[in-house]
Amino acid sequence: MSLTLHGIPVSGGIAIGHAHLVSHARLEVAHYVVPQAQIAEELTRFDAALTTVRAELEELRTQIPANAPQEFDAFLNLHLMILNDTTLSKAPRVIIAAEQCNAEWALKVQLDSLLDQFDQIEDGYLRERKADVIQVVERLMKVLFGQPGYTPPERAGDEQNLILVAHDLSPADVIQFKQHQFASFITDLGGTTSHTAIVARSLNIPSIVALHHARQLIRENELMIVDGTQGVIIVDPDPQALAEYKLRQHQWELERQKLKRLRDTRAATLDEIEIELQANIELPDDIADVRENGATGVGLFRTEFLFLNRDNLPDEDEQFEAYRRVVREMEGLPVTIRTYDLGADKQINGSVSTGTNPALGLRAIRLSLTEPQMFLAQLRALLRASHYGKLKILIPMLMSAPEIAQTLGHIAQAKQMLKDKFIPFDQKIQVGGMIEIPAAALAINTFINKLDFLSIGTNDLIQYTLAIDRTDDTVSHLYDPLHPAVLNLVAHIIKACNKAGKPIALCGEMAGDVQLTRLLLGFGLRQLSMHPARLLEVKQQVLRTRLRDIVPQVGKMLRADDPDKLRAMLARLNA
Ligand code: PEP
Ligand code: MG
Repeated sequence: MSLTLHGIPVSGGIAIGHAHLVSHARLEVAHYVVPQAQIAEELTRFDAALTTVRAELEELRTQIPANAPQEFDAFLNLHLMILNDTTLSKAPRVIIAAEQCNAEWALKVQLDSLLDQFDQIEDGYLRERKADVIQVVERLMKVLFGQPGYTPPERAGDEQNLILVAHDLSPADVIQFKQHQFASFITDLGGTTSHTAIVARSLNIPSIVALHHARQLIRENELMIVDGTQGVIIVDPDPQALAEYKLRQHQWELERQKLKRLRDTRAATLDEIEIELQANIELPDDIADVRENGATGVGLFRTEFLFLNRDNLPDEDEQFEAYRRVVREMEGLPVTIRTYDLGADKQINGSVSTGTNPALGLRAIRLSLTEPQMFLAQLRALLRASHYGKLKILIPMLMSAPEIAQTLGHIAQAKQMLKDKFIPFDQKIQVGGMIEIPAAALAINTFINKLDFLSIGTNDLIQYTLAIDRTDDTVSHLYDPLHPAVLNLVAHIIKACNKAGKPIALCGEMAGDVQLTRLLLGFGLRQLSMHPARLLEVKQQVLRTRLRDIVPQVGKMLRADDPDKLRAMLARLNA
């Protein structure tokens, strides 16, 4: 029987394909049903993996060198304790039998549930044991992957027909999908501007988040429709719905093709005001999309993605190669590279979010300033790459004058280190700051006075202004870019920068929302940076806009405080 579910649309378009249930991609776990007759064998396989890992850890204990730190023994003991605890040694067996699923899947389901429990723990020491649990499960998983198990029947079709169905995925998981060609991807959790959703958008496939119970309700291989524009999925659709959505899918494709004609058109309004449309990227490979969509620069390179899904951190040389590649492939167009915004929902392997509220904790520039060696390595890599093109450095989450001073101090130090070694770099490299904390928006003159350019990060600005965790699906319905406080803050930043002649861009998800293009232009914004896939539609809107006509309407919108009235005014603005 057909089933319809509603979530938050993340990336438009229509996908029709077969469900593939997945868990955290880092562990690459697939789900399949094990026939009743083979359950006993699956249980034996799981027990054998436990025995192997137990033996591995015991063996390691006998090999500890005499001069090793004492913690090493304690660490192995802890891992053995975790392994032997019934939550890992028994609970997955119950899941295998009850759900008739493969051992890897049962282990992953149990891990997810344990991690959820860890997140609720107040005690910092205990919460940090989360990383140990993950490491033990990874050991078990490795052994299970190496063991022959039940082989699931051939799945219908190839990767391009698969719709990934997940309970939750981290941004690090989703970035791995860039190497694949899935038809679509949906999750139970997440908000519209969570980094998971942002990366999903850059995959340019229909996707939906906050579906709540989708993964529980959908079975492996079921036929599904995903309408990424409306945020609707239909599981096991009837022939009529299927025919209708195939038609809509075709129309969507035609629209996309038509937009491609605008690639080389200059972005200017009907009254000849030129607008700079740049692109956001996560990895150097994204440059192909940037060029294909005619962006006039990279407005935001989220470098933290170079640091995810790996056990060692990228060193200065590796980073330098990545930044130089982007700068070179942009052939003289400006490239704004943000120093890593790690922490909160983007953690490097082996570390877990610390602090009771990671979004308010040691994240972005705050983390960089506590890790000077790692920060200096990135700054040197950026400076070295600046010799090969037009590179600007962007600092995330700045909040105060002392932070700016400390940051600029590190940049000066990195410059001096290169000078001492006669390594060339752009001596006049521009340094900008993201305005994404309300305090920074309100004290904008501090930032105007001390930095070369600014960029508004509306994803975080909204999160912090409205006190809504951008990753939390239970409050995602409250996330509102049109809240009068948000609009007034954004307008205030733009006005102050324009008055001071300070270059100002906007690189949050608002930049790629075509419904908001006129509003932002009306505020005086002239530079927007967005996912490459959004760029041509936004350009089309710019080409259809006469600024003179919209500025008075936008002024009235800033004074409106009734949300319904505001939405009606926005509709009129876009008519
Ligand atoms: C933002 O906060 O708007 C932004 C562009 O940065 P990120 O989404 O990576 O936090
Ligand atoms: Mg941000």
